[in-house]
Amino acid sequence: MRKKVSLIGSYRYRKLRYTNNHPLRIPRVSLLMEFLKAMGLLEKEELVEGREASPQELLLFHKEQYIKALEECDKTGKVSREYREMFNIGTYENPLSPAMWKGSLLATGSSVQAVELFLEGCVAFSPAGGMHHAYPSRANGFCFLNDPGIALQSLLQRGFERVLYIDLDAHHCDGVQDFFYESDRVFVYSIHQSPEYAFPFKRGFFEERGSGRGRGYNLNIPLPRGVNDTEFLYVLEKTLPLVVEAYKPQAYVLQLGTDSLLEDYLSKFELSNWGFLKAFDMIRSLLGEGIYLGGGGYHPIALARAWALLWCRMSDREIPEKLTAEAVKLLKSVDFEEFEEETDRSYMYESLLDRPREGQIRREIKELVEKVRAEF
Ligand SMILES: [Zn+2]
Repeated sequence: MRKKVSLIGSYRYRKLRYTNNHPLRIPRVSLLMEFLKAMGLLEKEELVEGREASPQELLLFHKEQYIKALEECDKTGKVSREYREMFNIGTYENPLSPAMWKGSLLATGSSVQAVELFLEGCVAFSPAGGMHHAYPSRANGFCFLNDPGIALQSLLQRGFERVLYIDLDAHHCDGVQDFFYESDRVFVYSIHQSPEYAFPFKRGFFEERGSGRGRGYNLNIPLPRGVNDTEFLYVLEKTLPLVVEAYKPQAYVLQLGTDSLLEDYLSKFELSNWGFLKAFDMIRSLLGEGIYLGGGGYHPIALARAWALLWCRMSDREIPEKLTAEAVKLLKSVDFEEFEEETDRSYMYESLLDRPREGQIRREIKELVEKVRAEF
């Protein structure tokens, strides 16, 4: 018998978008759902309608005053200057839009559902989740509610003692890291663009190893621009087993932001979706099934293709070689303009799997891996 596998999504996201000038104005979860259907990769019973998070769930991570402010601004359609300054909402980065409260609430509930389904023995993916930058009482980096933090907290609440959080997004998970910085019950492991040149700039350095009881339970691997598949997989292969061996996690939550792909214009990494898939395979072969969340990703076509690949793995499907005519039509209908107009991206409309983007492993990356090894 095939194992039960669930994609937690909703077409409600079509109406819960960010403002028109925002990188997250694009379709993501609804596009993934339509794309999988057009490819014949999603059965009706595999699709689980997302639900909104409850106030109790939000309070596992967030401050009440902040939650109330989000709700109030959503209702009135206005953000006061006081709230803007206090909570960092109503800004260009974190604008007032249907995504701010209703969309975030749905994404957060969906990530808690992923935890619940996982605990029932199901493989569950919440692609709307992974909003790792939000703070308890402050929006940050396009994120309002920290669903990975809430998912982790809900595991702890259910009695888990050692949970590993793995973050593959091109950006460091500052909101998650800071929340669990003094805890030994969550180990935060992140590979990302160095804060020397990328958001969130103030967090994500190697030296941040946790404090108090949490000392040693935080590991950042900040990398230079232009990381290729070979380098990314090398780092993962040489460091993650050390963490798993030392920490012996009882469960793990995996953030699968697709902004580390070459096509993504908001990051400087150059992964192919082949490399991204390999990273996912490596993690699963090391740790078994986990709780899978989405994350960043600002190129809708690259995002839909990459998450569709992971979905094939989660649901034990063969990876189709070609895109169906219906799928091509769907991708071509997406309202999105390439940043670099001259670049040939026709391959994205031909097959699902990219050719590997392999290369040399730079010396600075090898040295960083040695530094990590010396810590264990
Ligand atoms: Zn990101």
